[in-house]
Amino acid sequence: MESATLSASKEERRAKVIEVLNKARAMELHAITQYMNQHYGLDDMDYGELAANQKLIAIDEMRHAEMFAERIKELGGEPTTDPAAKTQKNQDMETIFTFDADLEDNTVDVYNQFLLVCRENGDSISMKLFEQIIDEEQAHFSHFDNVAGHIKNLGNVYLSKIAGTSASTGGFGKGFVINQGAA
Ligand code: FE
Ligand code: FE
Repeated sequence: MESATLSASKEERRAKVIEVLNKARAMELHAITQYMNQHYGLDDMDYGELAANQKLIAIDEMRHAEMFAERIKELGGEPTTDPAAKTQKNQDMETIFTFDADLEDNTVDVYNQFLLVCRENGDSISMKLFEQIIDEEQAHFSHFDNVAGHIKNLGNVYLSKIAGTSASTGGFGKGFVINQGAA
């Protein structure tokens, strides 16, 4: 290990970890709005099943954004509210899923590097957080990559099977109002 890292003060090491946690949070905030935008688009085109999964994945990303924020607060930092990139709008069917697969693939790569930063700076809790979230991003990648492959190889044969399917996400997710209604 680099001696500069070992000699860094606790505050300096903590600041490095907060920095990568916040970069990750910004990437999650971008993913949330990107997938929500695609959710409306796919729903509009009546590809219900694909729309539903897009919504569920956006909810996963919101959970990730909150997990990063909680850890940032524990370390005494301030969670960012700025997304890492602008939302791409009006993407066509040929673009959406290759775009998303690339996004997740890049996220897995970047989070692995962030995990190393946590290790170098002696934060095993943040390291484990990245480990857990990387597994989920990998699952997102597999889904997007599968769909992109079907669209590329089967085209309309695949899409005609999805057209008109239900956009239901299988019951209600937990939100404030729904939670109160269920109480
Ligand atoms: Fe995520
Ligand atoms: Fe993801």
